[in-house]
Amino acid sequence: MSTPTQQQVMDALATVNDPEIKRPITELGMVDSVEVAEDGSVAVHVLLTVSGCPLKDTINRDVTAAVTSVAGVTSVDLTLGVMTPEQRASLKEVLNGGKAQREIPFAQPGSLTKVYAIASGKGGVGKSSVTVNLALALAAQGLKVGVVDADIYGHSVPAMLGIADARPTQVDDLIMPVPTPSGVSVISIGMLKPRRDQVVAWRGPMLDRALVQMLADVYWGDLDALLLDLPPGTGDIAISLGQHLPSAEVVVVTTPQEAAAEVAERAGTMASMMHQRVIGVVENMSFLTLPDGSTMEVFGSGGGDRVAETLSQRFGYDVPVLGRIPLDPSLREGGDAGKPIVESDPTAPAAVVLRSVADRLAGRGRGLAGMQLGLTPTAKF
Ligand code: ADP
Repeated sequence: MSTPTQQQVMDALATVNDPEIKRPITELGMVDSVEVAEDGSVAVHVLLTVSGCPLKDTINRDVTAAVTSVAGVTSVDLTLGVMTPEQRASLKEVLNGGKAQREIPFAQPGSLTKVYAIASGKGGVGKSSVTVNLALALAAQGLKVGVVDADIYGHSVPAMLGIADARPTQVDDLIMPVPTPSGVSVISIGMLKPRRDQVVAWRGPMLDRALVQMLADVYWGDLDALLLDLPPGTGDIAISLGQHLPSAEVVVVTTPQEAAAEVAERAGTMASMMHQRVIGVVENMSFLTLPDGSTMEVFGSGGGDRVAETLSQRFGYDVPVLGRIPLDPSLREGGDAGKPIVESDPTAPAAVVLRSVADRLAGRGRGLAGMQLGLTPTAKF
């Protein structure tokens, strides 16, 4: 077999994406040198963005696999180094596209990223569960999805996505979102704290800074959708988001309960006051299916409809109920295990509803366009 060329090895390396930045390592200046010997052995030196990069094992594995796949390669000797400050500065320039820093990319006029803020009136209604499942369902459609966990009280999103203890890599003042095994990129307000067990006792200006940091100082790349898990209620984060991202569309999560519906309406009204559009209501914990097949309305009924009707009347446009998610122990188990139900138990009724809500967000399932009508041709013409 003939000796592989350096170009063939470089072409193979161009198929390896940095797991955090999600762009080819060749574009990012991470491939420092490639040497191909006559016997087909290849020596590659790859530069990590920072020392102790948490994903160096992934890079190691992907680079080795890519180079090994080139015809004629007999062995791969991969060594890892770390970028110098100058190399990091030019990487940052590549990532920023030469633009000034600290602008929120999603707030720019040409932004193609759909931003969804998931809001609720009170805690414990399943807002974070809805956020992570919608994110995974959208990613499963092939969309590039980011999640900002802005819930100062809970910040449970990383644990629900299986990255509880992850800390983001920082390239100088640029923060890399943490990739999940399902390919969703995540930043949580909990990751900005020095210690995980620390309480976030921040008020307006600090929270505003944290939100801007998560939107502007994080390298999100080209996202199709960004989901924000908001804290429950109508507090400072909701106001800041309205100021910085009025184009965000809001999904209100409620339970069927009267009291939950009332506070959910307030959260929706708040969004509208900030000139954001409320695109729908998700009713969670709608019913429980008992072993005999009957259903039990554990938290009463009507909350979702009530919020949808009230907000539709108040705003003068249609705010639909996007879905009713049943109570399901496997939804909770999936969240606790870091593998949300749309992945861990995709045929469960709750997962089916969550996927259909994601379809509606992605613009599918509306009207008849693109829907399977279930017609079978019976004859050939
Ligand atoms: P929030 O973000 O509104 O505070 P979470 O998503 O953290 O709410 O949900 C609170 C708890 O309820 C979690 O343990 C979650 O797993 C559980 N849970 C949420 N929705 C359901 C459901 N439909 N069925 C069973 N458990 C649920």
